[in-house]
Amino acid sequence: MARYRDSVCRLCRRESTKLFLKGDRCVTDKCAVERRNYAPGQHGVQTRRKFSEYGMQLREKQKAKRIYGVLEKQFRGYFKKAEMKKGVTGENLLQLLEYRLDNVVYRLGFTLSRGMARQLVRHSHFTVNGKKVNIPSYSVKRGDVIEVTKRGKDIEAIKESLKKTVKKEPLSWLEIDEEKMRGVVTSVPMVEDISLPIQEQLIVELYSK
Ligand code: SF4
Repeated sequence: MARYRDSVCRLCRRESTKLFLKGDRCVTDKCAVERRNYAPGQHGVQTRRKFSEYGMQLREKQKAKRIYGVLEKQFRGYFKKAEMKKGVTGENLLQLLEYRLDNVVYRLGFTLSRGMARQLVRHSHFTVNGKKVNIPSYSVKRGDVIEVTKRGKDIEAIKESLKKTVKKEPLSWLEIDEEKMRGVVTSVPMVEDISLPIQEQLIVELYSK
């Protein structure tokens, strides 16, 4: 599957906002948005401009895709599913994205970024209800138990990440047992739990044209 391979910091600069794609570095003054908050490229400074309504909708979609590491076709698929579900489409969309296994691994604090979570999931370092799952887009559900595998428990990056994230405010829809390196999905994430710089309604407007 095609992947974005350029510096991910350029993506944040393009959106003029922190998308938190690089773990620890994002909260230091080494963050590229802190240092150079203008679009990348030769004409980045000059091209900072007001967006049209369509432009704003497009940017919100790009932001969401970049934060969750999802490409266009897959993102559209999530939108279609969100539309078919009961409830508010924008909220459904975010919930579907939050239920991706790579995102849940990140949210549980096993990694410092979704990118790292994706990589470790691909390398089969997590189980869902006792079975190894190596598909980052795997959709979890309420009651699922996500656990680091025996081999994964020796990975320094996971141990370090847990140490760093353990003191943070726990999420209402996930429960974590740091000792056992295991987490449970206890409910559906609410929009207020997601707290990302995404105006999901603009994405709905974009796809409804
Ligand atoms: Fe974005 Fe993190 Fe890079 Fe800052 S350090 S520009 S938040 S990826």
